[in-house]
Amino acid sequence: MKIHEYQGKELFRKYKVPVPRGILIHDKSEAAAAAREIGTTPVVVKAQIHAGGRGKGGGVKLAKSPEEAEQHAGKIIGMTLVTHQTGPEGRLVKKVLIEEGMDIVRELYLSLILDRETSQVMIMASEAGGMEIEEVAEATPEKIIIERIDPVIGVKPYLARKIAFALNLEGEVFKQAIPFIINLYQCFVKEDLSMLEINPLVVTGDNRLLALDAKIDIDDNALGRHPDLQEMRDLDEEDPNEIEASKYRLNYIQLDGNIGCMVNGAGLAMATMDIVKHSGGEPANFLDVGGGANEEMIENAFRILLSDNKVKAIFINIFGGILRCDILAAGVVAAARKLSVKVPVVIRMEGTNMEEGHRILNESDINFIVGNGMKDAAKKVVQAIK
Ligand code: GDP
Ligand code: MN
Repeated sequence: MKIHEYQGKELFRKYKVPVPRGILIHDKSEAAAAAREIGTTPVVVKAQIHAGGRGKGGGVKLAKSPEEAEQHAGKIIGMTLVTHQTGPEGRLVKKVLIEEGMDIVRELYLSLILDRETSQVMIMASEAGGMEIEEVAEATPEKIIIERIDPVIGVKPYLARKIAFALNLEGEVFKQAIPFIINLYQCFVKEDLSMLEINPLVVTGDNRLLALDAKIDIDDNALGRHPDLQEMRDLDEEDPNEIEASKYRLNYIQLDGNIGCMVNGAGLAMATMDIVKHSGGEPANFLDVGGGANEEMIENAFRILLSDNKVKAIFINIFGGILRCDILAAGVVAAARKLSVKVPVVIRMEGTNMEEGHRILNESDINFIVGNGMKDAAKKVVQAIK
């Protein structure tokens, strides 16, 4: 689960990681008062959405007066912010953070992520902050410092000093960097994060080290033990179909193509997407209804697929094991009867109670295309779109 910058900074404060002072507002009428309360000139007005690249997209603006802060807030709240991470459709901004403006001398980069290859937390740091780390990695990989953390030892001062040296920090700022890095690691581990990125990490004119940005991803599997983090969930930032699917415990991820896929089992779902691609099609989603899906779940899954107007055909690929083919067929027929199905539906179904499943499909008044095996079904669904 992703959280907003302002929420990430609240977490940082809890772990004594320095951040600028800021006030979150939802309406431009609150901007001037917030700017006055912060009291610095300038203040920064920052769009709060779950995507990076806000600066370049016009979602981060400096204001030299409370009046200017109000003007910027008025433009940013309600705008559809397009960044390289939002996709062309952009994201509607509903709140902004009014923040203390910093006198920035240096912009650095610091992040922690889980390195799955070594099963360790990895710290990445770079002097080239303020730009996309992917670009730095591409053009000047030598500018990225990587340290992996032994989970038993954690981040000891020597390791934090090594990173601070590599960032060419000096004097007071160097000293501040040691607890900064140690506390950040504590935050990462104790809050069960899977990603934490500070870009930029700044050195100010008055020799302070601060996190100017905060991008955080929390491990969903650990949310159960963090009720305070659960409260930070912002449904406005999530795909409506994914929210709907999570209500029915369906494993659904939206993709860019136009073939809606309904499959049982993650392995079969992956294989289905492969074969759709191989046959020249593009899957619109990943959907694993799970081994123990019942008729109601099938119906909901089918409804979610149909509600996506990018979907031009549906491919149902089920191996009847625990989920029997007759249950699947009954669920699909029930859903199709309630909803108007205007797109072709290709079904490939094999396994337990297959004959009964086919009988239910044949006796219904809905026009299904039956595939003989995965390859044939994938071919048919791609043809159906043409
Ligand atoms: P992102 O574009 O979504 O990553 O948003 P950031 O929070 O990183 O802000 C983008 C850029 O705005 C930063 O890289 C800074 O250059 C600039 N910025 C943000 N806050 C301040 C500030 O307090 N003072 C100044 N001078 N620039 C700021
Ligand atoms: Mn940033």
